[in-house]
Amino acid sequence: DLYAAASPLPSPPRSLTEAKWNDTASYAKKKNLQSWYQLQNGNWELVRILSTSGTEVIVSLPEGKVKHVQADCLSPANPDILDGVDDLMQLSYLNEPSVLYNLQYRYNKDMIYTKAGPVLVAINPFKKVALYGYDYIEAYRCKSIESPHVYAIADTALQEMRRDEVNQSIIISGESGAGKTETAKITMQYLAALGGGSGIECEILKTNPILEAFGNAKTLRNDNSSRFGKLIEIHFSETGKISGARIQTFLLEKSRVVQCAEGERSYHIFYQLCAGAQTTLKEKLNLKNVEEYRYLCQSNCYKIPGVDDTEQFLSVMEALDVVHVSKDDQESAFAMLAAVLWLGNVSFTVIDFENHVEPVVDEALLSVAKLIGCNIEALKLALSTRNMKVGNDSIVQRLTLPQATDTRDALAKSIYSCLFDWLVEQINKSLCLGKRRTGRSINILDIYGFESFETNSFEQFCINYANERLQQHFNRHLFKLEQEEYIQDGIDWARVEFEDNQNCLNLFEKKPLGLLSLLDEESTFPNGTDLTFANKLKQHLQSNPCFRGERGKAFTISHYAGEVTYDTTGFLEKNRDLLHLDSIQLLSSCASPLPKIFASIMFTQSEKHAVRPLHKSGGADSQKLSVATKFKAQLFQLMQRLENTTPHFIRCIKPNNLQSPGIYEQALVLQQLRCCGVLEVVRISRNGFPTRMSHQKFARRYGFLLLDNVSSQDPLCVSVAILHQFNILPEMYQVGYTKLFFRTGQIGVLEDTRNHTL
Ligand code: ADP
Ligand code: MG
Repeated sequence: DLYAAASPLPSPPRSLTEAKWNDTASYAKKKNLQSWYQLQNGNWELVRILSTSGTEVIVSLPEGKVKHVQADCLSPANPDILDGVDDLMQLSYLNEPSVLYNLQYRYNKDMIYTKAGPVLVAINPFKKVALYGYDYIEAYRCKSIESPHVYAIADTALQEMRRDEVNQSIIISGESGAGKTETAKITMQYLAALGGGSGIECEILKTNPILEAFGNAKTLRNDNSSRFGKLIEIHFSETGKISGARIQTFLLEKSRVVQCAEGERSYHIFYQLCAGAQTTLKEKLNLKNVEEYRYLCQSNCYKIPGVDDTEQFLSVMEALDVVHVSKDDQESAFAMLAAVLWLGNVSFTVIDFENHVEPVVDEALLSVAKLIGCNIEALKLALSTRNMKVGNDSIVQRLTLPQATDTRDALAKSIYSCLFDWLVEQINKSLCLGKRRTGRSINILDIYGFESFETNSFEQFCINYANERLQQHFNRHLFKLEQEEYIQDGIDWARVEFEDNQNCLNLFEKKPLGLLSLLDEESTFPNGTDLTFANKLKQHLQSNPCFRGERGKAFTISHYAGEVTYDTTGFLEKNRDLLHLDSIQLLSSCASPLPKIFASIMFTQSEKHAVRPLHKSGGADSQKLSVATKFKAQLFQLMQRLENTTPHFIRCIKPNNLQSPGIYEQALVLQQLRCCGVLEVVRISRNGFPTRMSHQKFARRYGFLLLDNVSSQDPLCVSVAILHQFNILPEMYQVGYTKLFFRTGQIGVLEDTRNHTL
């Protein structure tokens, strides 16, 4: 009975370190094998084992030196034939140095794509690589190339969409600057090429320069950093042609409009407009040079090396034409941009002994009034007073300088984010124009990756929350799929429970004592401050293992990707994201069309929370739509949408922080591999049977090593005889219907013997 060879599976190793050590210790006994030796600086070096005694091993270094080392500093290296394999799953030894080396080996040859089982790993080349364009698209379409590629992923998605009649999603993740947005564009290019013909594909591709102009900015990490999340849904008709598309955006970083760090820029479009607008438009909008606007000059950075803002502006206008944004609408949009810039230049003077202020009537104020089409007095009032309701009475409160500045900045931020939303809506109208949504779709998700900075604020809090949600989706799908293959091939498989990140999600989502609920609650309290919020967290959340209170206003969350300490400064304000009713009323009184539209959007949004601190509990007023709550709702909706699709995962990796080609920093890559869960997939494989080979291939490759003749030529009989001869322990492999499944390292031993024999 051939299947008797496969004995029941022992429970998988509990501790990975333990498993690794055992693995290493037995490996280290084998002479003359290659091994990874970890240096003091954390990097690994390839050494050769000369001899062993106890836990001490004598190795020879590449330059010929001999060294005594401890066995646990060694990790087994793979045989040379596995150098640069397409798929990390093919590695016999799945340890960190082997994975790092394999990716580096490929990266140095401009093979930036590698599979990690079902996941595509993409390492940012930071230079043009000859892997794209018509010839490559054709090659992947005809399947004449097999190496891992974004095109291959897109192609699989297309095929599975047609074959299974299930919507697909391509989920791209990675740190800022890792290449997500470029990867999303490459995916879109492939889909546009294969599903094109109706002309709509050109429009879809043109949404990229528009969204990048309005939603991307230069940061210290990426000269073209997306400051919003994006889901684009591409629809296909029954004949496989693209029939339309829809874009959804998530949480634009508003604060950048009024403030950004030294060396960073605000949104590209501001610089493009100032540089590229023609004289007539410039005069109409009273546009100056970027240096003259406070919002743009505070970070001391105006230019991006190698980027011509004038040229970019022309292509944005062209793209706007393509997606049918009329010239009038374009000009209205540019007027809003100019209004935002001029708002930043509005200044205030103190007018009484209580430090109340009034806006200075100067070019800035007059320009704002003209651009949005409002009355100057109304603008002055909106920027320096606030109408408050106390009971049934209405009182007018004058503002101090900090209050007035906040009001001004809040107005600027709101105008900009409304403009962004409005623009996305215009684009969506054009992309879906008169088209019914029939057939199927492929979603492409390009969302901000996990962030951990020196200081982490509300933005990182939201971004990392989103990543926890996505990680859960990632885990479930990959883990499920992995195990399904075992079951399909009929091997004896005890389901491995996966340690998920549910604890961390609970920390965020639990009601009433979770981070989000407590944040919302504190945001509505009249006397709530960032400090009382931080204290409340410490009071209620200490029991969750993912939470730790810190000194002062800070707290730490243990995310799946590592610990992050958040500073609660500004949390409540950012979560409330208030725009006072006075500002909304100002916009609705404007003569220009866009401010009116913005006002009505804002009004519906803020009706519920314009009353903030002073409101009474209960009743319709208390139903607040805070930023965090809105974001959570968006995320839930997104997850639901993704759940109904077949996912394809792409993990982008940034090989260095210099945005330079040819530099591969092992520690940086490793940290991302750990962070974004690639090692997680690898770890699951360690518990399972990562090496698979068909009966035929196995018999062919190692059959000649058999000492005794085998009566049958049947590949399965030959395979089993090989396994017996080499004393491969029954718990180290399983025989499936079509394939042999091996635990990590098993094929390596066979392969070594084969090489010595040949
Ligand atoms: P992310 O969206 O992850 O923050 P981007 O997609 O904006 O990162 O990539 C950052 C930069 O890296 C790009 O502007 C581009 O210069 C470079 N880059 C990324 N992917 C590629 C690629 N496949 N080929 C060439 N350059 C790339
Ligand atoms: Mg991006």
